[in-house]
Amino acid sequence: MYGTIMDTKRQFGMDSGFLFVFRNRTEEERMDQIKNELVSTVSHELRTPLSSLSGYIELMLARDLTPEKRERFLKTMAKEAKRLTALLNDFLDIQRMEDGHQEYKQDHFSLNKLVLEVIERFRETNDHAIHFDNADNDMLLIADRNRIEQVLVNLISNAIKYSPNEQEIEVRIRQDHNQAHVSIRDFGIGIPEHAFEKLFTKFYRVDNSDTRKIGGTGLGLSICKEIIESHGGSIEVESSIGKGSTFTFTLDLAEETS
Ligand code: ADP
Repeated sequence: MYGTIMDTKRQFGMDSGFLFVFRNRTEEERMDQIKNELVSTVSHELRTPLSSLSGYIELMLARDLTPEKRERFLKTMAKEAKRLTALLNDFLDIQRMEDGHQEYKQDHFSLNKLVLEVIERFRETNDHAIHFDNADNDMLLIADRNRIEQVLVNLISNAIKYSPNEQEIEVRIRQDHNQAHVSIRDFGIGIPEHAFEKLFTKFYRVDNSDTRKIGGTGLGLSICKEIIESHGGSIEVESSIGKGSTFTFTLDLAEETS
């Protein structure tokens, strides 16, 4: 969009004042559009966990609950509350990123250890079998550890979420020259080729009966891309409908990595 305005300016010899007004208006329209999408996504996505929570509260108020039932209900409620927090965090991240207020720390850490830690947490709470194909060497990164963790969590959650009938997930890390490659592979529903281009843009969701059933905001991948690119890395996808998907991100290693 900006490119078009610049070309017009060159063509018609507009002064920079015009350019500034055009730019601001385009930017305002873009922000309005994002806000509108945010409001409709928030209201849609908050409704499900909220109504589930109030349903369980009603059930908990019933007197004749066995201790087992009570525990099961509480566990589900905790899951729904977690989901609400995750949603809220995604919305806040998007807003910070839009405002350009996102700051990244420069932590020194082992990528291998971080990946293992994240996988172990998933193993405790999920039925999917997550295989970890670790690299032989330790890979050191200088990056914002929490944010790289967020990318891993998003990609592994998606792998689980979009493979409802297949229980296997593979996470692989490798060093190639001075770069770390991390891939998360699932054998789930897959992604149609026409969607590859838009997949990492805000609010984009593949629209078919499977994804509608599964639900989501279309924000996770755009947050992953923003984080990885802000660290000088890249993220890509390979996928085939009905066979599964592999998301791979690449980051430069710290210099002291052997
Ligand atoms: P959300 O999952 O909340 O909709 P994301 O930004 O994480 O948002 O993903 C965007 C879209 O990409 C999803 O709606 C889904 O259509 C598709 N997608 C992401 N990961 C996978 C995956 N592992 N397998 C199949 N489709 C996926």
